[in-house]
Amino acid sequence: MRTISKAAEMQDAVNREKSRGKTIGFVPTMGFLHQGHLSLVRESLKKTDVTVVSIFVNPTQFGPKEDFKDYPRDIHRDTEILEKEGVDYLFFPDNAEMYPEGYKTYVEVHDLQDKLCGRSRPGHFRGVCTVVLKLFHIVEPDFAYFGQKDAQQAIILKRMAEDLNVRVKVEALPIVREEDGLALSSRNTYLSQEERRAALVLSKSLDEARQMVENGEMDAARITDRMREMINQEPLARIDYVEIVDMDDLDPVNTIEKETLAVLAVFVGKVRLIDNAILRLKE
Ligand code: AMP
Repeated sequence: MRTISKAAEMQDAVNREKSRGKTIGFVPTMGFLHQGHLSLVRESLKKTDVTVVSIFVNPTQFGPKEDFKDYPRDIHRDTEILEKEGVDYLFFPDNAEMYPEGYKTYVEVHDLQDKLCGRSRPGHFRGVCTVVLKLFHIVEPDFAYFGQKDAQQAIILKRMAEDLNVRVKVEALPIVREEDGLALSSRNTYLSQEERRAALVLSKSLDEARQMVENGEMDAARITDRMREMINQEPLARIDYVEIVDMDDLDPVNTIEKETLAVLAVFVGKVRLIDNAILRLKE
C-alpha cells in the first residue's frame, strides 16, 4: 500500500492507474477503523481494480462545541489494518493540504442538509459535501462507498454527485453491527460500560419499529411514539430526534410506504449516537 499525503501526488497516481484502464474504488473515512469501514473497503476491493481509502478528520464538518479535537485517531493501527486488507492507496492529507490559507469554497445541498442531523448540527453537511467533493476531484473514483449508517449523508452525497455531474457511482452499504445490535461507530469508544449498555436502546427501538410494521402497523406516529417511549425509559438516553421519513426527500411520512426510513439520534450521556432502519412493507 502506498500512503500519499499530497493531493497532486494522489491525482497523478490515480491518473496513471486510469491510463492503464483500471477502475478506481474509493472509501472516504475519518479513520479509527472498524468493521463497518472494512465492509466498504472489502466491497471496493471486490468490485474495482484499485482501492483508495482516505483518512481525514474533516474540521469543517464539526461544530464549534463538537468533538473535533477529541475525535479518536490512530493512524498506525489504521495503516496496518488497510495494508492487511490489500488496499492500494491510503490518502492521508493534513488540514493545510485540504484547506490551505485563503480557502473560500463550500458546497451545500439545500433543503436535505437542513433536516434531521442538519437541525442539531448546523453546517455539518456543508462540511461533509465540501470535503467529499474535494476528495472526489482528487481521487476521481468510478465508485465511492459509503455506509447506510449515515443514511442522510449517503442521500445527500448521491444528490450532490448527480447535481454537480460528478462521474462517480455513489453506493450505500448496509450497517455493520455488534452482535448485540449496536451499530459500529468510532464514537462508541467514548461510551462508559453503563452507557454502552444503555446505547442498545437505539437498535432495540428500531427492531421494535420493524416488528410493528411486520405486524401490520402502518401509522408512522404510532411507531415513533412507541420508539420514543422505549428510549425515554432509559435514564441515560436523551432523544435528539426520532422520525420516520421518505427515503428520497427525508420529509416525515404519515403512513409507512413501500420503503420508509426510521431514523434517530440519541444522546447517551454526552455521546450523540445515530442509527436507522429501512422499514419495508410486506409484499
Ligand atoms: P466515518 O469514519 O465515521 O466518517 O465513516 C466513514 C464511512 O464508514 C461512512 O460512509 C460511514 O457511513 C461508514 N460507516 C461508519 N460506521 C458504519 C457501520 N457501522 N456500518 C457501515 N458503514 C459504516
